[in-house]
Amino acid sequence: MGKFVQNLIVSNLMRKTFADNNQMCLYLQILTATLICAVTHLYMLVFFILAGSLVFSIYNVFSLLFYTTMFLLLPRNHFTLIGLLETSEVLLYGVLFCVLTGLSTYGLTYFVLIIIMQQIVPYGSIRLRTSLLATGLVLGLACVAVNYYVPPPVTFSDSVNHLLMVSNIVLLLCGVVVELYIRAVTELIVANVDDAYVRELSSQAYTDPLTGLYNRRYAEKHFEKAALKSEQAHCCVAMIDIDDFKQINDTYGHGCGDDVLVFLAGFLRMSLRKTDVVFRWGGEEFLIILEDVELAQANDVMDGLRDRLAGAVIATRQGDLRITVTIGLAKLSYASVAESIEICDTRLYEGKRSGKNRVVTQL
Ligand code: GH3
Ligand code: MG
Ligand code: MG
Repeated sequence: MGKFVQNLIVSNLMRKTFADNNQMCLYLQILTATLICAVTHLYMLVFFILAGSLVFSIYNVFSLLFYTTMFLLLPRNHFTLIGLLETSEVLLYGVLFCVLTGLSTYGLTYFVLIIIMQQIVPYGSIRLRTSLLATGLVLGLACVAVNYYVPPPVTFSDSVNHLLMVSNIVLLLCGVVVELYIRAVTELIVANVDDAYVRELSSQAYTDPLTGLYNRRYAEKHFEKAALKSEQAHCCVAMIDIDDFKQINDTYGHGCGDDVLVFLAGFLRMSLRKTDVVFRWGGEEFLIILEDVELAQANDVMDGLRDRLAGAVIATRQGDLRITVTIGLAKLSYASVAESIEICDTRLYEGKRSGKNRVVTQL
């Protein structure tokens, strides 16, 4: 594939948020199918305007409006709905084509297209796609039967008929070849997006230069992505704030305060599992997402961490220091992240108010 087209697709995909790579692949395949349909209807609109067919011109205008709506639905990742609607549209077009113009224009190619697409694009369950494949077969056969008994009401000159036949075959072949090609290169494209994503993550845009942790900007991206996952594990969120940090800065200097922040960042990363995520939320506040744990279990983990931290000796440029932290902990709902963090904040504040160096899980 041309480097330019590939880069264009990669940068387009980078701007979107997907729950995982499967969703990204599907997006790419459905986008391609929608483009193929839109281009086909645009071609057919011009064709029928030139051929003077009012019925087909009007239908193709409506189809173009329909596919514009599909392009608008695509960013919401409603893939099953889009697949179902587009399949129905092509079936309707196939029926109209065959019943109104007869079989000599090769309108049956639309049924062939639908049957093949159900195999190539996994937009819905196997059951759903098999049902639509069967519907395509039945409708195709029904059209053959109708044509046997009823002569087609719309007739064109031989040359227009011939051109329609060739157009339908070429459009079918192009559609299938392009979709198969995209399917074959999706893995490559997704790998490129992954590479670019890793580069972006390690760039300064998403990391805090002092501690090397993800910053708040990345946290928003992380939450957006996690909210798209179909299955949500039980997660907890913790807000950690260093106790009397201002005093450390005031007594030992800002550089010494920075040493403490770097130590704490490393301590948190070392103490947590690979699946947990740590963000530097603000000055001396850190946000942690604990994956796949209940609140009681998370409370034990955070209390153990708090306890070990209180006993740790931190080597700074001004000598050895000790710190304590206060932690607000809450269940995390990806559907309402802001509320979950607010609960954490309230609990953290309560911890500070009631004496610091503690984990608060409920008020
Ligand atoms: P509390 O126990 O109530 O949390 O008291 P505190 O002194 O920790 O809280 P406060 O919010 O008053 O102080 C936070 C301090 O963190 C103030 C600010 O100067 C310092 N700070 C914020 N970012 C940095 C940083 O990057 N480096 C250093 N050294 N200090 C920072
Ligand atoms: Mg603070
Ligand atoms: Mg503090």
